[in-house]
Amino acid sequence: MHGLNQIGHSLSGENKKYIHSFSTVSNSFLPGQFCLATKKEIDYAFEKSKVAFVKYREVSNKKRAKFLEEIAHQIVNIGDALIERASKETALSVDRIISERGRTVNQLKMFAQLLKKGSWEEASIDTSEEGRTPTRKPDLRKSLHPLGPVVVFTASNFPLAYSTAGGDTASALAAGNPVIIKAHESHLGTNELVAGAIIKAAIKTGMPDGVFSSLTGSGNKLGKDLVENLNTKAVGFTGSQSGGKALFKLAQNREVPIPFFAEMGSINPVVLFPNELKKNLDKTVNNYSKSITLDVGQFCTNPGLIIGIKSKELDKFINKLSKKISESTSQTMLSENIWTSFYSNRKIALEQKGVRLLNEGKGDEELKARPTLAVVNASDFINNSNLLEEVFGPYSLIVICNNEDELDKIATTIKGQLTTTIIANKTDLKIFKSIIKEFRENAGRLVFNGVPTGVEVCKAMNHGGPFPATTDSRFTAVGQDAIKRWLRPISYQDCPEEFLPKILRNKNTSKTYRTINGKLTRKSL
Ligand code: NAP
Repeated sequence: MHGLNQIGHSLSGENKKYIHSFSTVSNSFLPGQFCLATKKEIDYAFEKSKVAFVKYREVSNKKRAKFLEEIAHQIVNIGDALIERASKETALSVDRIISERGRTVNQLKMFAQLLKKGSWEEASIDTSEEGRTPTRKPDLRKSLHPLGPVVVFTASNFPLAYSTAGGDTASALAAGNPVIIKAHESHLGTNELVAGAIIKAAIKTGMPDGVFSSLTGSGNKLGKDLVENLNTKAVGFTGSQSGGKALFKLAQNREVPIPFFAEMGSINPVVLFPNELKKNLDKTVNNYSKSITLDVGQFCTNPGLIIGIKSKELDKFINKLSKKISESTSQTMLSENIWTSFYSNRKIALEQKGVRLLNEGKGDEELKARPTLAVVNASDFINNSNLLEEVFGPYSLIVICNNEDELDKIATTIKGQLTTTIIANKTDLKIFKSIIKEFRENAGRLVFNGVPTGVEVCKAMNHGGPFPATTDSRFTAVGQDAIKRWLRPISYQDCPEEFLPKILRNKNTSKTYRTINGKLTRKSL
């Protein structure tokens, strides 16, 4: 098996070529040919991961935790080379990449901690009742089990935290599943470095050969092959709505459908209520001028829609925000594709009936996006579903409602969103309670008096939302609960002790919390 490579490129003016290699545990990087994954190589990766699964699912929580911690360690060990490579390939600042590396490493450590606690297996035991009439109650014990090889599609806008060793990979490996990556074309050099770190960690901690593979190729060909391969047991996708929906359909149309978790784009409505806006006008303007332009607006949580009721304060807000946007400058985008899409999607949005360009940033447009602010009346917005489409980049549309009824109509007709932000004080909460509740129904995360950009990684985070923000809003992409995507429950009825998973045996050696006959306890049976 030779290395499988593809050319990556940088958008930061240097247009450097990077080589990426196909690799499994036994196949460390082989420099060489520029080619896309062949059918033979895809089959090889699946064959390895299938064999690896049989061993990997038996690896103890403690050892899997060590593996994840070692991946974190190896990523940090790459040092400046990783930071430089990721920054050059994506044109994101060194500071941003450093902080994203911190998040990536912490995610891995968070799942390692979760494994050590053991409670993620959600063990529950209902003991038998031999004398129950008319029928005996059997002994039933349930816990969560891994699914098998997981395919992960990585996103361009988080070259570390949503990429090769990002949240999907970390949670799927934590759950006991081998992972096969569809590397993102826009940061292949970064992918190569991180894939190398994972492989080093796997070898060092004695994980089975094939527990991780990385493949390169086009979404239309490789992506399709990966989703349709019968060995794939689940898919994690982070990216655009068009990509997510196309691959979701493939997953559903397989002879054996599989769970497909797509986290897609969103326009993240921000609703300005009058009393809070009056009180904190300048603060709100500052927050939003920063949030719209942060990292060239290339966040799935970018505030693409700002809604308010006609008032003097709203006029002031619009004028001040518009001025701030006019003072901003254009910045290099992640890739040529994203840059082209930004201007074509912006053009479509600005051509819609009633939409007016308010202001845009200064600077040249070659591979760079100019921050853009537009405005439309609610009557035109409500009747035009094109205005619900994401313009990925520093773009935001302000919608002016004539009255509460129009705001209510928007609340009930808007599509599923990753986030909705409510700018409101106590008086607003009283007056507009029912409208705010309507907005909640379409949101994965409700933010109060802040900005939607910035996603904390913790147990209480939900990063998801009703379709089309995701294809399954029950399972978050960020935080500890992401592990639940890659598991399924198995019940054991009257099962001999020696065949039970350790977590379900009478003696609770790991002192993990289990639910026994309805009570949460760490006791043994
Ligand atoms: P993307 O263009 O959809 O690409 C993501 C991956 O999907 C790539 O590997 C791509 O392969 C593949 N792909 C795209 N369309 C496909 C198709 N029709 N068939 C098969 N494979 C396909 O997205 P991106 O450029 O990486 O990221 C930007 C988007 O991601 C934005 O919309 C952003 O809002 C969203 N995002 C969402 C989240 C979240 O958590 N919800 C987080 C980050 C980003 P090829 O490039 O080879 O086609």
